[in-house]
Amino acid sequence: MEEEAAAVVPGELPENEKTAEGEKAKEKEEEEEVKVEEKSTDEGGEKAEKKEEKEKTADERGPEKVTTEETLEGKGSPKSPIVEKRQKDAKEQKDKEAAKKAPISSFFAPRKAAAKTEKPEKSDGEKKTSAVRKNSEEDRKEPKGDSTPGQTEFDPSRPNYHPVDHACWKHSQKVPYLAVARTFEKIEEDSDDLLCCVYLCLNQLGPAYLGMELGVGETVLMKAVAQATGRQLDKIKAEAQEKGDLGLVAESSRSNQRMMFQPASLTVGSVFKKLKEIASMSGNSAMNKKIDIIKGLFVACRFSEARYIVRSLAGKLRIGLAEQSVLSALSQAVCLTPPGQDFPPAVIDASKGMSAESRRAWIEEKSLILKQTYCEMPNYDIILPVLLKEGIDQLPNHCKLTPGVPLRPMLAHPTKGVGEVMKKFDEAAFTCEYKYDGERAQIHILESGEVRIFSRNQEDNTSKYPDIIARIPKVKKESVVSCVLDSEAVAWDHEKKQIQPFQVLTTRKRKDVDASEIKVQVCVYAFDLLYLNGESLVRQPLCRRRALLRESFMEVEGEFTFARSIDSDSTDAIAEFLEQSVRDSCEGLMVKTLEKDATYEIAKRSHNWLKLKKDYLDGVGDTVDLCVIGAYLGKGKRTGTYGGFLLACYDDENEEFQSVCKIGTGFKDEDLEQHHKFLKHILPKPRAYYRVDQSAEPDVWLDAVQVWEVKCADLSLSPVYKAAMGLVDPEKGISLRFPRFLRIRDDKKPEDATSGSQVDQSRSQSRQKVES
Ligand code: ATP
Repeated sequence: MEEEAAAVVPGELPENEKTAEGEKAKEKEEEEEVKVEEKSTDEGGEKAEKKEEKEKTADERGPEKVTTEETLEGKGSPKSPIVEKRQKDAKEQKDKEAAKKAPISSFFAPRKAAAKTEKPEKSDGEKKTSAVRKNSEEDRKEPKGDSTPGQTEFDPSRPNYHPVDHACWKHSQKVPYLAVARTFEKIEEDSDDLLCCVYLCLNQLGPAYLGMELGVGETVLMKAVAQATGRQLDKIKAEAQEKGDLGLVAESSRSNQRMMFQPASLTVGSVFKKLKEIASMSGNSAMNKKIDIIKGLFVACRFSEARYIVRSLAGKLRIGLAEQSVLSALSQAVCLTPPGQDFPPAVIDASKGMSAESRRAWIEEKSLILKQTYCEMPNYDIILPVLLKEGIDQLPNHCKLTPGVPLRPMLAHPTKGVGEVMKKFDEAAFTCEYKYDGERAQIHILESGEVRIFSRNQEDNTSKYPDIIARIPKVKKESVVSCVLDSEAVAWDHEKKQIQPFQVLTTRKRKDVDASEIKVQVCVYAFDLLYLNGESLVRQPLCRRRALLRESFMEVEGEFTFARSIDSDSTDAIAEFLEQSVRDSCEGLMVKTLEKDATYEIAKRSHNWLKLKKDYLDGVGDTVDLCVIGAYLGKGKRTGTYGGFLLACYDDENEEFQSVCKIGTGFKDEDLEQHHKFLKHILPKPRAYYRVDQSAEPDVWLDAVQVWEVKCADLSLSPVYKAAMGLVDPEKGISLRFPRFLRIRDDKKPEDATSGSQVDQSRSQSRQKVES
């Protein structure tokens, strides 16, 4: 497991979304490109500069013309119409930028300006102009003269759009359809701006399940920075190492540059488009083309733009903004300033007059609608246009669970023993299922017959499991047209007819698997049905979902089986079943409510599902998944590598990494070597969102990029560590005692690390255990 994780090229995010093979290929590609680049830069500055000029993208070339015109102007030539137009455009551009500095809700604004053209008669400006026009006989009879812009230039979203002067048709002429089309275009474009903003905030190029990646490694990025700023590559490298943030290096390099001309300012839409363009490039010369685009972006950067563009390109935006906050911000924006108003919007703050308490409750209620919708349809491309057009209340009617679009899985709460399960579920009917130790597989059967498989993190694993896909027609009953199954794919030994350990599964290739070359066979253990023939089942109780699952599929030994279960409330029977599950190579049991409170809670760690692992019986509750944020230099045998690490849990409330322990045990020598190689991003100072006490400061600060599964003997309150601080004590946090490294969790992102409140829960459980 660790070996595989270490094969992933370090330092490039999101590591857990990449295949080792892909990474290697990219690295190789980069190396080759770099060699080519180095050769060409060796040719000498002037030659290289000329080459660069030649290679300029259209974006870069554009402003060159401005330089010529500006020079002319400087010599005292009369202003040419082009110069005038460009100056006007520059002013308009400035206005547009000012509007963009407003909060997220202001992205609706230009849209209204555009929409205004559909109702020109309502504008004050127009009323005034009409009055003037009434006095002009000529105007009334004659079509407007040259002042009417041509249809090709017509821009209904221009600042201070004048419904008469800026229209692309003349008085008494029929309105060209192009005017409407252009307006639609702008409206569409504008909601795209919001969409681009959201994606840029999240450092994504599209929905996670589409797996779009920039494929830009650090070396390439440094090359591009060097070429765009005229600085030497090794200087950039050294400074990046020192500052720990290539973004800051790019920003300061830019400010050293004297500009020959002012390139066109970047817009959200243009930056996002370029990023997508970069992601779509593949093949031999892709890396050079990518560098060209990146250089084009840098040249146009102003102020801090270079910092964030570099960070976006490196996949490390790291502004401490989690998706839930983006969703809350969006819902707040549409609640307070409802979309669909004329411009300027009459209602800026729809909560006026409400008490602070009811305002908060109202926004929270609406925000929940958006968050739930996002769980079922995690795709902003689909959600945002509906949000703007139909409003937040209508979202659930338009954006529904759809086969082909993965949903975030329901998660379980850890419990420490059968006694606790009985106490928690009290009178409720429940079932105990084997907890298989494999990989979660969300299997989608589309109406077209196509089958897609997604991981716990909504990554597309379809090409990993051609064997599962091939067996679907055999196990699916004819009545099933479309469905979404929740299951665990587990390594299976066909000869011995038994489950194999999780480690065996990790040796399987991760992408583009050829069915004939599969060595590790898997069996699918289906445990839930979330969608069937056009109907979402997530609001149905488990007993109903399970019945439909069993009605809709057939078992085939070693290929497709229903999760083994018992529906019993006898403590002895459950304890025996738990023992049996362990003998059958499972991790323990999943205990689930069947009828009451038994809906499928998407993306939630719900109490409707409890996990009872064999480990819990002899230690502290669950193992914890922690993020490495610092390291201590090794001594003695460990000299040259790190001897210990500072680990943190992730608190999603405060969006910060909270220190929880130092760890130095459980590592094999190879582990330490791999960690030292992998965790190479040393930061000059801790990130603003690291909560660490001075007394626990590590020798080196590391970028939070990797999650480790850790086991400990106990958890205790500590004045030094910060996990769950504020929750358990105003001054103290929780620390893990005698933590031991188990393995790398490369299926978890840093933000998926165990949360402060989960650490707190584990502590309560361990205390209960001691007390009993
Ligand atoms: P979590 O997913 O809760 O953050 P984790 O990734 O460490 O933690 P576990 O604690 O091991 O996972 O337990 C949850 C996982 O168990 C599920 O995501 C699923 O992949 C697996 N699993 C195995 N059998 C079942 C089952 N019968 N029902 C639900 N999940 C199961």
